[in-house]
Amino acid sequence: MPEYANIVIDISHEKLDKIFQYRIPEALRTDLAVGMRVSVPFGAGNRVTAGYVVGLTEEASYDPEKIKEIKGLVPGSIPIESQLIALADWMRENYGGTMNHALKTVLPIKQKAAEKKQRFVSLAVSREEAKEQLALFEKKHYTARARLMSALLEQSPIPYETVVVKWNISFAVIRSMKKMGMVNVEERRLFRSPFGEIPQEGQRLALNEDQRQVVARIWQEWQQGCRRTYLIHGVTGSGKTAVYIELMVQAGRQAIVLIPEIALTYQTVARFCQRFGERVSILNSKMSAGERSDQFERASQGEVDVMIGPRSALFTPFSDLGMIIIDEEHESSYKSETLPRYHARETAIARAGMAGASVVLGSATPSVDSYYKARKGEYVLLELEKRIDEKPLPACHMVDLREELRRGNRSILSEKLQALMEQRLSDGQQVMLFLNRRGLAGVITCRSCGYVPKCPHCDVSLSQHNNGKAVCHYCGYEEPVPETCPQCGSAYISGFKAGTQKIEEIVRARFPKARVLRMDYDTTRRKDGYEKILSAFSNQEADILIGTQMIVKGHDFPNVTLVGVLAADLSLHVGDYRAAERTFQLITQAAGRAGRGRLPGEVVIQTYTPDHYCMRLSQSQDYKRFYEAEAAYRALLHYPPCGHMMVMLVASGDEMTATLLMELLAGKIRKAQEGGKLQGLSIIGPASPPVAKMKDIYRRVMYFKHGDYQELVNIKDVLEQFVARHHEFAAATIQFDFDPMGGF
Ligand code: ADP
Ligand code: ZN
Ligand code: ZN
Repeated sequence: MPEYANIVIDISHEKLDKIFQYRIPEALRTDLAVGMRVSVPFGAGNRVTAGYVVGLTEEASYDPEKIKEIKGLVPGSIPIESQLIALADWMRENYGGTMNHALKTVLPIKQKAAEKKQRFVSLAVSREEAKEQLALFEKKHYTARARLMSALLEQSPIPYETVVVKWNISFAVIRSMKKMGMVNVEERRLFRSPFGEIPQEGQRLALNEDQRQVVARIWQEWQQGCRRTYLIHGVTGSGKTAVYIELMVQAGRQAIVLIPEIALTYQTVARFCQRFGERVSILNSKMSAGERSDQFERASQGEVDVMIGPRSALFTPFSDLGMIIIDEEHESSYKSETLPRYHARETAIARAGMAGASVVLGSATPSVDSYYKARKGEYVLLELEKRIDEKPLPACHMVDLREELRRGNRSILSEKLQALMEQRLSDGQQVMLFLNRRGLAGVITCRSCGYVPKCPHCDVSLSQHNNGKAVCHYCGYEEPVPETCPQCGSAYISGFKAGTQKIEEIVRARFPKARVLRMDYDTTRRKDGYEKILSAFSNQEADILIGTQMIVKGHDFPNVTLVGVLAADLSLHVGDYRAAERTFQLITQAAGRAGRGRLPGEVVIQTYTPDHYCMRLSQSQDYKRFYEAEAAYRALLHYPPCGHMMVMLVASGDEMTATLLMELLAGKIRKAQEGGKLQGLSIIGPASPPVAKMKDIYRRVMYFKHGDYQELVNIKDVLEQFVARHHEFAAATIQFDFDPMGGF
């Protein structure tokens, strides 16, 4: 029975770690829980103040004589902060890390945003004059000017960002139009969303029969007071967003909509704003801490009903939360890569449980985790099998790159792809070329036969390290990178090197007349770079868009009728158990970009391993069969969701300390196993992670697999406590990651 409570007095303060300990009076011992508000004597004058319980403990951290006693519970309604603190406690327990980390994640520090001014562009002439000018610009083919004029004739003023980003008009054009006296640029105070005001149309889309059935099912249970987790498996373009919006309207309570940052574009946000207008707020990572805290402040004041944003929007302090939507629920960005390493999906379900809300997950390619749970009945599975208006899914061709090489074509563009590109360019349609390169790891493949060296113990692909070795990231097994292919003897075996830049060169050389855009880390680093490229392509200012996974997420380009997946295997062999899942998702998402408009689409999947189940089933876009195959593989090797996995990272500036501590912890586990404890646990490693040394910190990892999540949590607790007790390891840190997405 806990005798002491850890209490935070001021949760809006940056020093959340100022935690005070109080004695729990007898009468409260059984009922007191984390998140509750209590009144306590505070400071020299013992002024009675309210505080929040953030932890319970049996041991006093100070001289028990000096610890004051809690006065009592604060009566009245439970504020939203209590719920979020309880959620932080849940996160700490399930993902490791300290309560302080967890609190800082769920309770945004209150900060005043610097008063923000927004610039607007407006018409400086009458509409008649503007129309005359527009005609003139069009005649002279001043396309940017014409675009701005017609945009301003639709709506004036327009936020400056929108002019630049959505309409893709340069600063120079705006400046010269201002000089000509055609437009004004003026500043106004504060705006609500990063896109300024979005015109509200208000009318609802009439749902089709399939959409109606999905809504009806959830709505029926909702009305009965039943709150559950639903997984909508809907092919790309099946109208999931309209379903979310309808559900939110019907539920009539506050809602959080999680969308991966990369898909959080003007287009997407506009659809929600058209329905909910001013009551929508947005979070994104480009906002300052002050702006974010302003958005949360507005939410807690009840000024908004819908919060759209990436992972962190989950902690919006809504007191009447009724629904949490997670679009593209399979996205790995929903897993935090910093402490606490929480998954937004599981955390959303935990929060929904506390708030009495439903959770709606949606994806064209659900994560194996979620589909597994849906199959087991933990989530409710709902399907949208057809595209809106029965538009066909694109036709997928598979090209065997080994065959190309045999025929003497050493280009990254297969003959089939080149021929189809040629055709699209002459028809004035658009093409997307997608390179699914990922991470730092070097994928090793034989270009003649498709052979990929694998770890004999873990059945994941080996990766090329800087030391020239082929290494398993899980168990540390290594062997030299072969000079010739052990399967076919070819010398064309090596790490794949071509990046997007190289591909751009190849495409420009092959199609000198085509207008080419490239989107990757380099071209999007600058502010708005990402949106600018998207809008330029959307305005058909380019014929070909080349890019990494950034280009395949949720964008709607009606004129794209051909998608090329250049080396589909690249993400297949990244050396972790989710590689096939991720590859299937990427190819399906990429294919989903083709044929969204009037014209049907085609996809070319280029691969060195056409017989791999992931390749065959992404060609036929058969999610269910892919899931069956993948689940069988996971079950065989006890990878999640068929069992759970925990990674432990030991890091230290001193290599010896890191190694020693890891050996010590591993030894402790092994000894317990030999003594017959820890039944059902298997361990892999210790090994070096893909990045074994980061900023002069040495890193070692070890993997634990067990059928029961809670068992892994218990092991984590024991190891964490062990390290905390041994001060000789103060220079080392340990961290845990459960069911890793990227890992350390
Ligand atoms: P998904 O998210 O499933 O890929 P979207 O929600 O983006 O699909 O819908 C695809 C397109 O279909 C969008 O342009 C959307 O406006 C349109 N749409 C959705 N539902 C309907 C409907 N019931 N009637 C007509 N068009 C619809
Ligand atoms: Zn070979
Ligand atoms: Zn291995």
